[in-house]
Amino acid sequence: MAIERTLGMIKPDAVSRGLIGKIVGRYEEEGFTILGMRVLRLSKRQAEAFYAVHSERPFYGSLTDMMSSGPIVALALEREDAIAGLRAVMGATNPEEAAEGTIRAMHALDIERNSVHGSDAPETAAVELRFFFRESEFI
Ligand code: UDP
Ligand code: MG
Repeated sequence: MAIERTLGMIKPDAVSRGLIGKIVGRYEEEGFTILGMRVLRLSKRQAEAFYAVHSERPFYGSLTDMMSSGPIVALALEREDAIAGLRAVMGATNPEEAAEGTIRAMHALDIERNSVHGSDAPETAAVELRFFFRESEFI
């Protein structure tokens, strides 16, 4: 294992329910260093670009509506094994399948409004970090 960086997002469903502090606190407890943090609202176009890999999936339109419906938090996170580690803390995409104690098991509303995002591989982490941050602004 190695020190890695990954991109996390707190999605609109969680921001609108006042869960920013809880989720960021959990990431700190799990050993992640917050290198960058931005609160912003994605346009529909930006949400479509971020999720372009899913453009042929049936849920793409609804997902990108949801992701542009309100503010999100983008997080640049660093830790040993950060990419797999963040996804483990998040839990499975479908909250009904998410392990007890994971963020999605605790907070997600349904498979779409599942509260958090985390990059799934080193290549996607690099692309997704660049989507929100300049490397020169990391603490
Ligand atoms: N999603 C959805 N319906 C599905 C699968 C995914 O609405 O059947 C949404 C959900 O918000 C998910 C996002 O699309 O987090 C991206 O899907 P992916 O399979 O990449 O899941 P993730 O990597 O976020 O666990
Ligand atoms: Mg994914």
